[in-house]
Amino acid sequence: MSTTEQRVAIVTGAARGIGAATAVRLAAEGRAVAVIDLDEAACKDTVEKITAAGGKAIAVGADVSDEAQVEAAVSRVAEELGAPTILVNNAGVLRDNLLFKMSAADWDTVLNVHLRGSFLMTKAVQKHMVDAGFGRIVNLSSSSALGNRGQANYSAAKAGLQGFTKTLAIELGKFGITANAVAPGFIATEMTKATADRVGMGFEDFKKAAAGQIPVQRVGEPEDIANAIAFFTGEAAGFVSGQVLYVAGGPLN
Ligand code: NAP
Repeated sequence: MSTTEQRVAIVTGAARGIGAATAVRLAAEGRAVAVIDLDEAACKDTVEKITAAGGKAIAVGADVSDEAQVEAAVSRVAEELGAPTILVNNAGVLRDNLLFKMSAADWDTVLNVHLRGSFLMTKAVQKHMVDAGFGRIVNLSSSSALGNRGQANYSAAKAGLQGFTKTLAIELGKFGITANAVAPGFIATEMTKATADRVGMGFEDFKKAAAGQIPVQRVGEPEDIANAIAFFTGEAAGFVSGQVLYVAGGPLN
């Protein structure tokens, strides 16, 4: 790549929340960004934020768990922006329930979006990375990978992503590609607001209660995660691979 060429990043689930903050941050770092989400129209705000700041971005609608849609989306990104060499697998859903009430459909939905989605996206993008001799993959895990009541499906998917990340690091390292996972704790987004709604608490009270359990005494913001992702996707992070970074305002084990 010449020094004037712009690297192309894909961020999934980037219409809002952590994905949107990450897309904006990577654009500020000089990347051209493909903002992927289920509904292309919903990506408009993120794209406008980037272009208003002088950056380059396109909106792409795709369900990351659908192989044909993933392949079409990655081809479109390569045609319109150039070969993608940065991938952030961030799209996610919750279908929380205690095990005895969890349906097989809710298990499948969560595993399909997080795990199958990250697999399909990575498989489609890695060929561009191999050709370029450079790649940065970041998968969104979670503190729930360590186990969390009501999240058998989600914790299994997020722990699975850690194993997936380490395997990518081992297989793809020789092509100049790194793979790392960022595992957020409590981040204030629509996802955590939906959890507050489900347990019948106001979001402000829910955040306050969560903050009391966190060493830095506040909940995280999407930008806290975007900062960590910016490091892992940076040119200088080429010797950091196969790692899981908990970004949770304190230590987790
Ligand atoms: P969010 O606000 O719910 O945003 C997730 C985005 O992903 C939504 O725009 C959603 O679109 C999209 N999406 C869902 N299924 C998709 C699919 N099949 N294909 C493409 N896009 C899809 O969530 P967030 O809080 O920003 O979380 C982002 C990531 O961080 C997730 O992987 C989550 O598990 C992880 N995480 C979050 C927290 C937290 O505290 N917030 C903590 C740990 C880990 P729709 O709106 O159309 O559904």
